[in-house]
Amino acid sequence: MNLRLVGPTPLPPTVRDALARPMLNHRGPEFAAMQTRIVNSLQHYFQTAHDILLFTCSGTGGLEAALVNLLSPGDAVVAVSIGVFGDRFADIAEAFGAQTHRLRFPWGSAADPDALRAKLAEIKNARAVLITHNETSTATTNPLQELARVAHENSDALLLVDAISSMGAIHLPVDEWGVDVAVTGSQKVWMIPPGLAMVSVSPRAWDAYAHARMPRYYWDFKKMRDAIAKGQTSFTPGVNLYFALDAALDLMNAEGFENIRARHARLAQHTRDGAQTRGFELFADPQFASNTVTALRVPPGVNGKKWRQVLNQTFDTVIAGGQKELTDKIVRIGHLGWVNEAELDACLDAMTAALPYAQAN
Ligand SMILES: *Cc1c(COP(=O)(O)O)cnc(C)c1O
Repeated sequence: MNLRLVGPTPLPPTVRDALARPMLNHRGPEFAAMQTRIVNSLQHYFQTAHDILLFTCSGTGGLEAALVNLLSPGDAVVAVSIGVFGDRFADIAEAFGAQTHRLRFPWGSAADPDALRAKLAEIKNARAVLITHNETSTATTNPLQELARVAHENSDALLLVDAISSMGAIHLPVDEWGVDVAVTGSQKVWMIPPGLAMVSVSPRAWDAYAHARMPRYYWDFKKMRDAIAKGQTSFTPGVNLYFALDAALDLMNAEGFENIRARHARLAQHTRDGAQTRGFELFADPQFASNTVTALRVPPGVNGKKWRQVLNQTFDTVIAGGQKELTDKIVRIGHLGWVNEAELDACLDAMTAALPYAQAN
Protein backbone atom coordinates (compact mmCIF):
# COMPACT_ATOMS: atom_id res chain seq x y z
CA MET A 1 0.00 0.00 0.00
CA ASN A 2 1.18 3.51 -0.83
CA LEU A 3 0.33 5.14 2.52
CA ARG A 4 0.64 8.87 1.99
CA LEU A 5 -0.98 10.28 5.11
CA VAL A 6 0.72 12.91 7.27
CA GLY A 7 1.18 10.22 9.85
CA PRO A 8 1.03 7.43 10.54
CA THR A 9 3.70 7.00 7.88
CA PRO A 10 5.22 3.77 6.49
CA LEU A 11 7.73 2.02 8.74
CA PRO A 12 11.25 1.05 7.58
CA PRO A 13 12.05 -2.69 7.99
CA THR A 14 14.49 -2.14 10.85
CA VAL A 15 11.80 -0.20 12.71
CA ARG A 16 9.26 -2.99 12.18
CA ASP A 17 11.80 -5.52 13.47
CA ALA A 18 12.50 -3.35 16.50
CA LEU A 19 8.80 -3.23 17.36
CA ALA A 20 8.78 -7.01 17.65
CA ARG A 21 11.67 -7.22 20.11
CA PRO A 22 11.00 -8.98 23.41
CA MET A 23 10.12 -6.78 26.36
CA LEU A 24 12.70 -5.74 28.89
CA ASN A 25 12.63 -4.19 32.33
CA HIS A 26 11.68 -0.55 31.80
CA ARG A 27 13.46 0.26 35.07
CA GLY A 28 16.60 -1.67 34.14
CA PRO A 29 19.98 -0.67 32.68
CA GLU A 30 19.19 -1.54 29.02
CA PHE A 31 16.23 0.81 29.00
CA ALA A 32 18.29 3.53 30.70
CA ALA A 33 21.03 3.28 28.07
CA MET A 34 18.48 3.32 25.26
CA GLN A 35 16.69 6.37 26.66
CA THR A 36 20.00 8.23 26.97
CA ARG A 37 20.81 7.46 23.31
CA ILE A 38 17.36 8.62 22.24
CA VAL A 39 17.46 11.85 24.23
CA ASN A 40 20.94 12.70 22.94
CA SER A 41 19.83 12.19 19.35
CA LEU A 42 16.64 14.15 19.85
CA GLN A 43 18.63 17.10 21.25
CA HIS A 44 20.47 17.12 17.93
CA TYR A 45 17.24 17.25 15.88
CA PHE A 46 15.60 19.82 18.15
CA GLN A 47 18.90 21.77 18.07
CA THR A 48 18.76 22.23 21.81
CA ALA A 49 21.18 21.78 24.69
CA HIS A 50 18.29 21.61 27.16
CA ASP A 51 15.86 18.97 28.39
CA ILE A 52 13.96 16.60 26.14
CA LEU A 53 11.09 14.71 27.78
CA LEU A 54 9.22 11.80 26.21
CA PHE A 55 5.63 10.94 27.04
CA THR A 56 3.67 7.88 25.97
CA CYS A 57 0.77 9.58 24.20
CA SER A 58 -0.10 11.05 20.82
CA GLY A 59 1.09 14.52 19.85
CA THR A 60 -1.90 16.27 21.39
CA GLY A 61 -0.85 14.98 24.81
CA GLY A 62 2.42 16.86 24.32
CA LEU A 63 0.51 20.08 23.57
CA GLU A 64 -1.58 19.64 26.71
CA ALA A 65 1.57 18.92 28.72
CA ALA A 66 3.20 22.15 27.51
CA LEU A 67 0.23 24.21 28.67
CA VAL A 68 -0.55 22.62 32.03
CA ASN A 69 3.07 22.65 33.17
CA LEU A 70 3.74 26.32 32.44
CA LEU A 71 0.48 28.22 32.96
CA SER A 72 -2.10 28.99 35.62
CA PRO A 73 -5.86 29.36 35.19
CA GLY A 74 -6.65 32.94 34.20
CA ASP A 75 -3.29 33.54 32.48
CA ALA A 76 -3.57 35.48 29.23
CA VAL A 77 -2.46 33.52 26.18
CA VAL A 78 -2.20 34.59 22.54
CA ALA A 79 -3.01 31.64 20.30
CA VAL A 80 -1.90 32.08 16.69
CA SER A 81 -3.93 29.83 14.41
CA ILE A 82 -3.80 29.17 10.69
CA GLY A 83 -5.84 25.96 10.73
CA VAL A 84 -7.28 23.01 12.60
CA PHE A 85 -4.24 22.33 14.77
CA GLY A 86 -3.75 25.97 15.73
CA ASP A 87 -7.39 25.99 16.82
CA ARG A 88 -6.82 22.80 18.81
CA PHE A 89 -3.87 24.29 20.73
CA ALA A 90 -6.10 27.27 21.61
CA ASP A 91 -8.97 24.96 22.61
CA ILE A 92 -6.73 23.07 25.05
CA ALA A 93 -5.55 26.33 26.64
CA GLU A 94 -9.17 27.40 27.01
CA ALA A 95 -10.20 24.03 28.47
CA PHE A 96 -7.68 24.53 31.28
CA GLY A 97 -8.89 28.04 32.07
CA ALA A 98 -6.38 30.25 30.24
CA GLN A 99 -7.74 33.57 29.04
CA THR A 100 -7.24 32.69 25.41
CA HIS A 101 -6.96 35.43 22.78
CA ARG A 102 -7.10 33.94 19.32
CA LEU A 103 -5.23 35.43 16.39
CA ARG A 104 -6.63 33.60 13.38
CA PHE A 105 -5.65 33.81 9.72
CA PRO A 106 -7.43 32.51 6.61
CA TRP A 107 -6.74 28.84 5.95
CA GLY A 108 -4.02 28.39 3.37
CA SER A 109 -2.20 31.53 4.57
CA ALA A 110 0.65 31.86 7.03
CA ALA A 111 0.51 34.03 10.16
CA ASP A 112 1.52 37.66 9.70
CA PRO A 113 4.23 38.80 12.16
CA ASP A 114 2.90 42.38 12.09
CA ALA A 115 -0.50 41.16 13.24
CA LEU A 116 1.17 39.32 16.11
CA ARG A 117 3.01 42.50 17.06
CA ALA A 118 -0.30 44.39 17.12
CA LYS A 119 -1.98 41.67 19.16
CA LEU A 120 0.80 41.71 21.75
CA ALA A 121 0.47 45.50 22.01
CA GLU A 122 -3.21 44.96 22.79
CA ILE A 123 -2.79 41.97 25.16
CA LYS A 124 -0.01 43.40 27.31
CA ASN A 125 0.12 40.68 29.93
CA ALA A 126 0.35 37.61 27.68
CA ARG A 127 2.06 34.76 29.53
CA ALA A 128 2.42 32.58 26.46
CA VAL A 129 2.24 32.72 22.69
CA LEU A 130 1.09 29.50 21.03
CA ILE A 131 2.17 28.87 17.44
CA THR A 132 1.88 25.94 15.07
CA HIS A 133 5.12 25.60 13.11
CA ASN A 134 3.75 23.46 10.29
CA GLU A 135 -0.06 23.54 10.01
CA THR A 136 -0.80 20.04 8.75
CA SER A 137 -4.46 20.74 7.96
CA THR A 138 -3.59 23.37 5.33
CA ALA A 139 -0.05 22.26 4.36
CA THR A 140 1.33 25.64 5.37
CA THR A 141 4.54 26.40 7.29
CA ASN A 142 4.56 29.54 9.41
CA PRO A 143 7.52 31.95 9.29
CA LEU A 144 8.40 30.86 12.81
CA GLN A 145 11.74 32.64 13.04
CA GLU A 146 10.07 36.02 12.44
CA LEU A 147 7.07 35.21 14.63
CA ALA A 148 9.40 34.15 17.44
CA ARG A 149 11.42 37.35 17.12
CA VAL A 150 8.25 39.47 17.26
CA ALA A 151 6.99 37.53 20.29
CA HIS A 152 10.24 38.00 22.20
CA GLU A 153 10.75 41.66 21.22
CA ASN A 154 7.21 42.63 22.20
CA SER A 155 6.53 40.54 25.29
CA ASP A 156 7.95 38.34 28.03
CA ALA A 157 5.57 35.60 26.97
CA LEU A 158 6.72 32.02 26.76
CA LEU A 159 6.83 30.65 23.21
CA LEU A 160 5.11 27.29 22.91
CA VAL A 161 5.36 25.65 19.51
CA ASP A 162 3.45 22.77 17.97
CA ALA A 163 6.18 21.27 15.80
CA ILE A 164 4.43 17.93 15.58
CA SER A 165 4.65 17.58 11.79
CA SER A 166 7.87 19.55 11.21
CA MET A 167 10.49 18.71 13.80
CA GLY A 168 13.27 16.61 12.28
CA ALA A 169 12.43 17.60 8.70
CA ILE A 170 12.09 21.40 8.66
CA HIS A 171 14.67 23.74 10.17
CA LEU A 172 13.68 24.71 13.72
CA PRO A 173 16.64 25.57 15.95
CA VAL A 174 14.84 25.59 19.29
CA ASP A 175 17.51 27.35 21.36
CA GLU A 176 18.49 29.90 18.71
CA TRP A 177 14.88 30.98 18.10
CA GLY A 178 14.00 31.02 21.80
CA VAL A 179 11.34 28.33 21.68
CA ASP A 180 10.44 27.47 25.29
CA VAL A 181 8.59 24.26 24.54
CA ALA A 182 8.54 22.49 21.18
CA VAL A 183 6.36 19.41 20.76
CA THR A 184 6.59 16.64 18.18
CA GLY A 185 4.87 13.29 17.70
CA SER A 186 6.26 9.90 16.80
CA GLN A 187 4.04 9.05 13.80
CA LYS A 188 5.08 12.09 11.75
CA VAL A 189 8.69 12.65 10.69
CA TRP A 190 10.13 9.96 12.98
CA MET A 191 9.06 6.86 10.97
CA ILE A 192 7.61 4.98 13.94
CA PRO A 193 3.98 4.28 14.98
CA PRO A 194 1.81 6.75 16.91
CA GLY A 195 2.18 6.80 20.69
CA LEU A 196 5.13 8.97 21.72
CA ALA A 197 5.28 12.75 22.17
CA MET A 198 8.67 14.39 22.52
CA VAL A 199 8.97 17.86 24.05
CA SER A 200 11.87 20.23 24.66
CA VAL A 201 11.82 22.40 27.79
CA SER A 202 13.90 25.60 28.06
CA PRO A 203 15.36 27.02 31.29
CA ARG A 204 12.79 29.85 31.07
CA ALA A 205 10.06 27.23 30.86
CA TRP A 206 11.37 25.62 34.06
CA ASP A 207 11.15 29.02 35.80
CA ALA A 208 7.52 29.24 34.72
CA TYR A 209 6.92 25.67 35.85
CA ALA A 210 7.83 26.68 39.42
CA HIS A 211 4.82 29.03 39.57
CA ALA A 212 2.33 27.34 37.23
CA ARG A 213 -0.88 26.16 38.87
CA MET A 214 -2.87 24.36 36.19
CA PRO A 215 -3.85 20.87 37.36
CA ARG A 216 -1.59 18.12 36.09
CA TYR A 217 -0.53 14.64 37.06
CA TYR A 218 0.46 12.31 34.23
CA TRP A 219 2.02 15.21 32.31
CA ASP A 220 4.14 16.58 35.15
CA PHE A 221 7.41 17.79 33.61
CA LYS A 222 9.43 17.60 36.82
CA LYS A 223 8.34 14.06 37.60
CA MET A 224 9.49 13.08 34.13
CA ARG A 225 12.78 14.99 34.27
CA ASP A 226 13.63 13.43 37.63
CA ALA A 227 12.75 9.99 36.32
CA ILE A 228 14.84 10.44 33.17
CA ALA A 229 17.78 11.53 35.31
CA LYS A 230 17.54 8.07 36.92
CA GLY A 231 17.31 6.34 33.53
CA GLN A 232 13.58 5.78 33.89
CA THR A 233 10.24 7.39 33.03
CA SER A 234 7.58 8.71 35.41
CA PHE A 235 5.11 5.96 34.41
CA THR A 236 5.38 2.77 32.36
CA PRO A 237 6.52 3.84 28.88
CA GLY A 238 5.49 2.34 25.53
CA VAL A 239 8.66 0.27 25.54
CA ASN A 240 8.37 -1.06 21.98
CA LEU A 241 7.98 2.50 20.68
CA TYR A 242 11.31 3.32 22.31
CA PHE A 243 12.85 0.31 20.52
CA ALA A 244 11.40 1.65 17.28
CA LEU A 245 12.57 5.21 17.90
CA ASP A 246 16.06 3.98 18.73
CA ALA A 247 16.15 2.14 15.38
CA ALA A 248 14.65 5.07 13.46
CA LEU A 249 17.18 7.49 14.95
CA ASP A 250 19.96 5.14 13.80
CA LEU A 251 18.63 5.53 10.26
CA MET A 252 18.31 9.29 10.65
CA ASN A 253 21.78 9.66 12.13
CA ALA A 254 23.23 7.63 9.25
CA GLU A 255 21.48 9.81 6.67
CA GLY A 256 22.44 13.04 8.46
CA PHE A 257 20.21 15.93 9.52
CA GLU A 258 21.21 18.22 6.63
CA ASN A 259 20.47 15.47 4.13
CA ILE A 260 17.13 14.69 5.75
CA ARG A 261 16.05 18.32 5.56
CA ALA A 262 17.28 18.60 1.96
CA ARG A 263 15.42 15.40 1.02
CA HIS A 264 12.16 16.70 2.47
CA ALA A 265 12.57 20.02 0.63
CA ARG A 266 13.33 18.17 -2.63
CA LEU A 267 10.41 15.75 -2.28
CA ALA A 268 8.02 18.59 -1.44
CA GLN A 269 9.08 20.51 -4.55
CA HIS A 270 8.82 17.31 -6.58
CA THR A 271 5.27 16.78 -5.31
CA ARG A 272 4.16 20.34 -5.99
CA ASP A 273 5.73 20.31 -9.48
CA GLY A 274 4.32 16.88 -10.26
CA ALA A 275 0.85 17.88 -9.09
CA GLN A 276 0.81 21.03 -11.19
CA THR A 277 2.17 19.20 -14.25
CA ARG A 278 -0.78 16.84 -13.92
CA GLY A 279 -3.21 19.76 -13.80
CA PHE A 280 -3.88 19.92 -10.05
CA GLU A 281 -4.06 23.20 -8.18
CA LEU A 282 -2.08 23.84 -5.01
CA PHE A 283 -4.05 25.03 -1.98
CA ALA A 284 -1.52 26.76 0.30
CA ASP A 285 0.19 30.09 -0.32
CA PRO A 286 3.22 28.92 -2.38
CA GLN A 287 5.57 31.15 -0.38
CA PHE A 288 4.75 29.13 2.75
CA ALA A 289 4.15 25.69 1.24
CA SER A 290 5.10 22.90 3.63
CA ASN A 291 7.99 20.50 3.10
CA THR A 292 6.19 17.61 4.81
CA VAL A 293 2.68 17.77 3.31
CA THR A 294 1.08 19.16 0.14
CA ALA A 295 -2.58 20.15 -0.12
CA LEU A 296 -4.34 20.15 -3.51
CA ARG A 297 -7.78 21.50 -4.33
CA VAL A 298 -10.30 18.83 -5.29
CA PRO A 299 -10.79 19.55 -9.02
CA PRO A 300 -14.16 20.97 -10.11
CA GLY A 301 -16.69 18.23 -10.86
CA VAL A 302 -14.86 15.71 -8.68
CA ASN A 303 -16.27 14.23 -5.48
CA GLY A 304 -13.37 14.33 -3.04
CA LYS A 305 -14.65 11.52 -0.85
CA LYS A 306 -15.27 9.23 -3.81
CA TRP A 307 -11.82 10.09 -5.18
CA ARG A 308 -10.12 8.94 -2.02
CA GLN A 309 -12.31 5.81 -1.87
CA VAL A 310 -11.37 4.80 -5.42
CA LEU A 311 -7.73 5.51 -4.70
CA ASN A 312 -7.86 3.27 -1.66
CA GLN A 313 -9.91 0.40 -3.12
CA THR A 314 -8.64 0.29 -6.71
CA PHE A 315 -5.21 1.89 -6.59
CA ASP A 316 -4.04 0.80 -3.13
CA THR A 317 -3.13 4.41 -2.40
CA VAL A 318 -4.14 6.34 0.71
CA ILE A 319 -4.11 10.12 0.93
CA ALA A 320 -5.73 12.39 3.50
CA GLY A 321 -8.82 14.51 2.95
CA GLY A 322 -9.42 18.01 4.24
CA GLN A 323 -10.53 18.68 7.81
CA LYS A 324 -13.38 20.83 9.13
CA GLU A 325 -14.29 23.54 6.53
CA LEU A 326 -11.87 21.94 4.06
CA THR A 327 -13.58 18.52 4.07
CA ASP A 328 -13.99 17.41 0.43
CA LYS A 329 -12.45 20.71 -0.72
CA ILE A 330 -8.82 19.63 -0.57
CA VAL A 331 -6.78 16.45 -0.37
CA ARG A 332 -3.40 16.17 1.30
CA ILE A 333 -0.36 14.12 0.36
CA GLY A 334 2.13 13.36 3.12
CA HIS A 335 5.80 13.33 2.09
CA LEU A 336 7.57 12.92 5.38
CA GLY A 337 9.63 10.25 7.02
CA TRP A 338 10.36 7.13 4.99
CA VAL A 339 9.37 8.23 1.47
CA ASN A 340 10.95 8.60 -1.97
CA GLU A 341 10.28 10.17 -5.39
CA ALA A 342 8.93 6.98 -6.98
CA GLU A 343 6.24 6.62 -4.28
CA LEU A 344 5.14 10.22 -4.78
CA ASP A 345 5.04 9.81 -8.59
CA ALA A 346 2.98 6.64 -8.15
CA CYS A 347 0.62 8.48 -5.83
CA LEU A 348 0.13 11.38 -8.26
CA ASP A 349 -0.32 8.98 -11.20
CA ALA A 350 -2.95 7.04 -9.24
CA MET A 351 -4.72 10.29 -8.37
CA THR A 352 -4.91 11.13 -12.09
CA ALA A 353 -6.06 7.63 -13.07
CA ALA A 354 -8.76 7.61 -10.38
CA LEU A 355 -10.35 10.90 -11.48
CA PRO A 356 -12.76 9.45 -14.10
CA TYR A 357 -14.25 7.17 -11.40
CA ALA A 358 -14.77 10.02 -8.94
CA GLN A 359 -16.99 12.46 -10.82
CA ALA A 360 -19.58 14.32 -8.77
CA ASN A 361 -23.10 13.58 -9.98
C1 LIG B 1 -0.72 15.34 13.85
C2 LIG B 1 -0.73 16.71 14.43
C3 LIG B 1 -1.28 16.99 15.69
C4 LIG B 1 -2.05 15.97 16.49
O1 LIG B 1 -1.30 14.95 16.88
P1 LIG B 1 -1.99 13.60 17.42
O2 LIG B 1 -0.80 12.71 17.40
O3 LIG B 1 -3.07 13.21 16.46
O4 LIG B 1 -2.50 13.87 18.76
C5 LIG B 1 -1.19 18.27 16.19
N1 LIG B 1 -0.60 19.24 15.50
C6 LIG B 1 -0.08 19.03 14.27
C7 LIG B 1 0.55 20.16 13.56
C8 LIG B 1 -0.13 17.76 13.71
O5 LIG B 1 0.38 17.54 12.50
